Amino acid sequence: MNEKATYIVMLGPPGAGKGTQAKVIAERLGLVHVSSGDLFRENLSRETELGKLAQTYMTKGELVPDDVTIAMVKERLSRPDCALGAVLDGFPRTPAQAEALEKMLAESNGRINVVPLINVPDQALVERLGGRWMSASGRVYHALNNPPKVKWFDDVDGSPLFQRDDDKPETVQHRIDVYKAQTAPLIAFFKSAGLLVEVDGTQDIDKVTEDILTAIGTAC
Ligand code: ADP
Ligand code: ADP
Repeated sequence: MNEKATYIVMLGPPGAGKGTQAKVIAERLGLVHVSSGDLFRENLSRETELGKLAQTYMTKGELVPDDVTIAMVKERLSRPDCALGAVLDGFPRTPAQAEALEKMLAESNGRINVVPLINVPDQALVERLGGRWMSASGRVYHALNNPPKVKWFDDVDGSPLFQRDDDKPETVQHRIDVYKAQTAPLIAFFKSAGLLVEVDGTQDIDKVTEDILTAIGTAC
């Protein structure tokens, strides 16, 4: 067992399966799933100032500015339930966020153990996001690939599922472009740190989970 807290950073374009996998991996490892997108959406539904600010960027498919994003995630990671670590999904998304994360973890006796990069071609991303349904708790479904047991309600808590405003085709393409311009540079950053493990995200959900768990097992 590592004496340092364990942090796993899920990397990949919008629709690659980060949220789907992060939920399962966190449960299997007894860690917390921390999704920056879910945190923004919670703020949005509570109509907080942060939520209102974030919405102006999210609806356009742009990234929320680094300073507010970093402060929000830092606060979340400082809560007691993250003492053993977390599976991070959607953060970091820029080099400045990655540097801020490393600094945060160094201050709290944590470290990034492994960064699974989920690879999926662009065309499949567009199809996946077009059919994505989510629950307020962040569980993710797909109309065809991964439908809920009862249409359109969450399998676990029975809450109604919703489709995201930013999953419209026009916004999806822009989000993929934003990923390539602003987030893809992190691939080289984590590769040079020896943390990156590439996973074929076009496989069945269970097989992708298995590959990620193998990568984590080797790294931890
Ligand atoms: P991300 O968090 O990377 O944006 P999600 O986990 O929300 O991605 O998944 C996007 C969509 O693709 C969802 O509708 C999800 O059910 C579906 N999906 C996830 N993984 C797979 C997979 N391996 N095969 C097919 N569909 C998938
Ligand atoms: P996806 O699952 O498709 O990758 P997310 O739920 O992670 O999308 O993010 C939705 C939106 O929230 C992003 O398009 C962006 O506007 C905002 N967002 C989420 N995480 C970050 C981040 N780390 N930095 C800046 N903006 C973010």
